Amino acid sequence: MTDARSTTETSPRRIAIIGGGLSGLAAAHRLIELTSAASPTSPRCEITLLEAGPRLGGIVGTRRENGYLIDTGADSFLTNKPGAIGLCRRLGLEDKLVATDSRYRGVHVVFDGRPVPVPAGFQLLGPTAIWPMITTPILSPWGKLRLLMEPFVPSRTPRDATELADESLASFVRRRFGREVLERLVQPLVGGIYTSDPEQLSLAATLPRFLEQERDFGSLIRAALSAKNSDRPPGANPTDTTSSGARYGLFAGLAGGMEDLLAALRSRVEAGGTVKLNTRVTEIQRPLTNPQREQGALSRDASASPFLLALSDGTHHSFDSVIVATTTHHAALLLGELDHDLSSELRQIEYASSAIVVTGHRLADVAHPLDSFGLVVPHRERRRILATSFSSRKFPERAPAGSVLLRTFVGGAMQPELNDLPDDELQRLVQSELSELLGVRGEPEISLVVRYPRAMPQYHVGHLDRVARIEALTARHPGLALAGNAYRGVGIPDAIHSGESAAMLVG
Ligand SMILES: Cc1cc2nc3c(=O)[nH]c(=O)nc-3n(C[C@H](O)[C@H](O)[C@H](O)COP(=O)(O)OP(=O)(O)OC[C@H]3O[C@@H](n4cnc5c(N)ncnc54)[C@H](O)[C@@H]3O)c2cc1C
Repeated sequence: MTDARSTTETSPRRIAIIGGGLSGLAAAHRLIELTSAASPTSPRCEITLLEAGPRLGGIVGTRRENGYLIDTGADSFLTNKPGAIGLCRRLGLEDKLVATDSRYRGVHVVFDGRPVPVPAGFQLLGPTAIWPMITTPILSPWGKLRLLMEPFVPSRTPRDATELADESLASFVRRRFGREVLERLVQPLVGGIYTSDPEQLSLAATLPRFLEQERDFGSLIRAALSAKNSDRPPGANPTDTTSSGARYGLFAGLAGGMEDLLAALRSRVEAGGTVKLNTRVTEIQRPLTNPQREQGALSRDASASPFLLALSDGTHHSFDSVIVATTTHHAALLLGELDHDLSSELRQIEYASSAIVVTGHRLADVAHPLDSFGLVVPHRERRRILATSFSSRKFPERAPAGSVLLRTFVGGAMQPELNDLPDDELQRLVQSELSELLGVRGEPEISLVVRYPRAMPQYHVGHLDRVARIEALTARHPGLALAGNAYRGVGIPDAIHSGESAAMLVG
């Protein structure tokens, strides 16, 4: 890093990335790629990654304990979005990519206190096959009839322009398929991904393909049937009727867990730039220009470059460009002085907190066959867990032979009070739920609690408009870019894509 006073015109371009989660790492890595591909006569870039915590990776991490391999946060990513899979290939990780175990693809949902398979082909918001919907015990006869009426439900005709703008996911599903499908299937499946209240989630910001299907086919069922009859490649459309839940056939993990990706990124970024751990940025400022300083001016010149970063150790450092790759509540704090409007828009994006209780059990201690990738729990069942992922069914190498690794999600936007429970209470609560729902007995071989305070952005109705305003406000500051999973997608491929796009913008 360069002290503000030592800046000269001949210095290389200095670029700071604030935040060493996946989006910040992806941004730094892309900048290094761009720099090494540039011609020798191009100006040199000096890349500095500033991370507040003691390690890189942010909310992603991997631990090994008693023969278990535990991804403590994300454990897999979508492969039909290029962000993660493309980066893995560029990092030479192709031989470490692992597909999910096809024997167990599918998911259970709790219905009347017991796990029942989600009907085959039901994918997040709607069915892609009719027979499994007719035979499922999850819906009442009226619920099934209402679902089958979907092709005859008219498309939405907004009363005014604002109504056209966005719709909640819950409103969309109730309108197209009825209340039962929403409460018994969609809410728990979507809740398992976004830890959100579907009454508030924006459909356009989260699952726009379903809006497109309504627009293009007038019905989601008709869209699914039409795709089934065409030769669309799997993954181009939600028409894989062999699995249920969150399209697990399209997910991949890494043999050594997400640490494989982090380690590869870390070594490339450390080789091509500077990484500063335990370094919190407290503010992004515009330095006073010389004439201003001479005149004792208090206001700063918004068009002046570079940026001045204030760090928690009291030092200030200047950079030509800055990528802010933190959660938006952190970004809002950093940008408060530079741009009040931008900061206040960023502050409006809400986050949900959650915890994962990771447990390892002998298979002999579990009555349920665990013959899927996991269990999701509808809010209406009034239980105290959101979902349990059967991690070693998804990826068999995650548990020692004869044992199973479970990851149980607690809290989220709909049960925020559970986030405040101490670890031992959370562990007891999960043990009791797993015992009732899956017949888990005895002491687990391992048990640990991982917390994610304000980690999952909530894409509420109106989110895309807010993001457009944020992007327009950010564009007023050439050299400044934002990255992270709060803007245009919450998953790992989205976070990586946002980091790489930010790098292209400032690089
Ligand atoms: C429980 C959970 C499970 C998930 N599971 C999946 C999954 O299976 N598949 C999937 O695709 N996605 C999953 N996700 C989403 C995925 O993990 C995220 O999209 C991604 O990790 C976000 O990365 P990020 O870099 O944007 O943010 P973060 O990981 O939050 O990184 C931000 C970094 O910025 C740092 N920072 C903050 N303020 C400052 C500052 N002032 N100065 C310096 N540094 C600062 C923080 O310390 C942190 O390291 C999951 C998310 C959660 C919460």
